[in-house]
Amino acid sequence: MPDYHAPLKDMQFVINEIAGLDAIAALPEFEEASPDLVEAVLEQAGIFASEVFAPLNQAGDEHGTRIDNGAVVSPPGYAEAYRQFVDNGWQGVGKSSAIDGQGLPFLVHSAVAEMWYASNMAFALCPLLTSGAIEALEMHAPAELQQLYLPHMISGEWSGTMNLTEPQAGTDLAAIKTRAERDGDRYRIRGQKIYITWGEHELSENIVHLVLARLPDAPPGVKGISLFLVPKYLANPDGSRGERNDLRVVSVESKMGIHSSPTCVMAYGDNEGAIGYLVGEENNGLACMFTMMNNARLEVGMQGVAISERAYQQAVSFARERVQGVARGHSERSTIIHHPDVRRMLMQIRAITQAGRALAYYASAQTDLAHHAGSEESRESNQRRVDLVIPIVKGWCTEMAQEATYLGLQVHGGMGFIEETGAAQHMRDARILTIYEGTTGIQALDLMGRKLLRDQGRSMYELLDELDAFAEQLSGAGEQFASMTGRFASALAAFRGATDYYLEHSAVDPDLGSAVGVDYLLLAGNVVCAWLMARSALAAQRHIDAGSKDDFFRHKIATAVFFAERILPRSEAQAMMVKSGSGSTMAIEADLF
Ligand SMILES: Cc1cc2nc3c(=O)[nH]c(=O)nc-3n(C[C@H](O)[C@H](O)[C@H](O)COP(=O)(O)OP(=O)(O)OC[C@H]3O[C@@H](n4cnc5c(N)ncnc54)[C@H](O)[C@@H]3O)c2cc1C
Repeated sequence: MPDYHAPLKDMQFVINEIAGLDAIAALPEFEEASPDLVEAVLEQAGIFASEVFAPLNQAGDEHGTRIDNGAVVSPPGYAEAYRQFVDNGWQGVGKSSAIDGQGLPFLVHSAVAEMWYASNMAFALCPLLTSGAIEALEMHAPAELQQLYLPHMISGEWSGTMNLTEPQAGTDLAAIKTRAERDGDRYRIRGQKIYITWGEHELSENIVHLVLARLPDAPPGVKGISLFLVPKYLANPDGSRGERNDLRVVSVESKMGIHSSPTCVMAYGDNEGAIGYLVGEENNGLACMFTMMNNARLEVGMQGVAISERAYQQAVSFARERVQGVARGHSERSTIIHHPDVRRMLMQIRAITQAGRALAYYASAQTDLAHHAGSEESRESNQRRVDLVIPIVKGWCTEMAQEATYLGLQVHGGMGFIEETGAAQHMRDARILTIYEGTTGIQALDLMGRKLLRDQGRSMYELLDELDAFAEQLSGAGEQFASMTGRFASALAAFRGATDYYLEHSAVDPDLGSAVGVDYLLLAGNVVCAWLMARSALAAQRHIDAGSKDDFFRHKIATAVFFAERILPRSEAQAMMVKSGSGSTMAIEADLF
């Protein structure tokens, strides 16, 4: 099986030309993030991903995890790989230097994380959750808790988890039953959580669980949920690891993919009650947890990009070796990469992956600007853009990863169906991405409700106006961009039309947002990605015009044209689906199905 290699050239191109590293590096917080430093960090991460994480991916899938004497046993090699990850300081890449992180932009973290996810997604979920927990604690935990826990988490010696889900409370967190009772200046937590990723393991010295629970006098529903830090081992006052807390893993799930990531049922407080510390204010836990969830949604979108890249590399490598048939223009049996239908599949995966990368890096750069831009006005406008695009990054990149991994397997023919090849693993691993951190349907509800209706389309129309201005610019870009220009203009008109329709009809058709939300989300993703791909094509053309003979730029333009011609036209159909309303979806009564 071919190894993973980091697509460094495309990553750097997107970071510089689309996400705009120069504007971020001009901010005082990131003045050290020079292009040279960023390049060096990415190169090192690429080596680590290919040499340490990637070789464990397939063996980890085969081995899975199991419980032995109350401890989760990880696949061979995982403990050593995690130790190297910590020793190299990778956990702290995108974290602020004020809390001993490396002070690099979130954009750089995203690119580095893409390599962790591509090389071994199941493994990399552990540092992902630690990263989200750090962010939630940094923003909402009292100073004493931060001092005790954050340094260990930023080094990666202690890992983090996110505990929301309970058997009766999945999407609907209002139904959470885990209880928290005041006990002096701390709390006692009792209850069961399910599906807790990396909830128990022996790779890190301690596990810091962030747990949603309800106080006895809490109001019902989501307004009565509080957030607690519940460590596996308590921290001593000097910051060292102290006593074992009253929590345990009950079981690990047997599941379709990400086999080496332990998905745990956790029991809190079987005996005296697990000790927990309040993060944020009582009954305001969901708002605090949203810090972690927003971060994680962007990261899960990045996982979609990463696994698509992995599927692409594997499919290309197979297509270069497998000999079948005689392709047109060949006199002897040829490798399948010469057949146009195989090329179509490879181009489709390639275009999806590069577009998703542009979208996810763009969102990451907007996040840096939302936090650190010089003026309040620009921080606010960047934050509006981040809020708008996060459900699109999560929804579009993960849905498209299904297509990418499906096609990756299809390129292999029968060998794709045979586990030994590894293509099936990518498809199985990718399947969780549209489910955890909120299903695609829930991302769509977020987009249609919180992001569109709440501000009556203000943020979306700001984006649409920016895309209109770009369409104008594209129309003067030259003959080689003619098809892209035409397709972009009509897709953009369809997107605006669908947006107008939704805002005009959501009051009279109350089921509309939920019935057509996923179609609208995918439409938004297609058009925003086409915008970023077209910008990439123009940037590549500038390099060619300046005399570059590098094939990379020619290929970038070809990929962007393919996206415009073969993926973007779905937008018109999606807009039609949005405009057909909820009628036919809801026509058959629930009890008659
Ligand atoms: C491998 C794995 C790892 C996970 N890791 C974690 C973790 O670390 N921490 C954690 O807390 N949780 C974790 N989860 C839980 C995950 O986030 C939930 O599974 C997910 O949010 C969906 O909840 P559910 O499974 O209860 O599905 P349900 O909520 O029962 O949803 C079932 C279906 O109904 C739809 N639906 C539900 N409500 C609505 C609505 N209001 N409107 C429209 N459609 C709706 C959903 O979109 C879905 O299609 C993990 C799950 C898995 C499988």
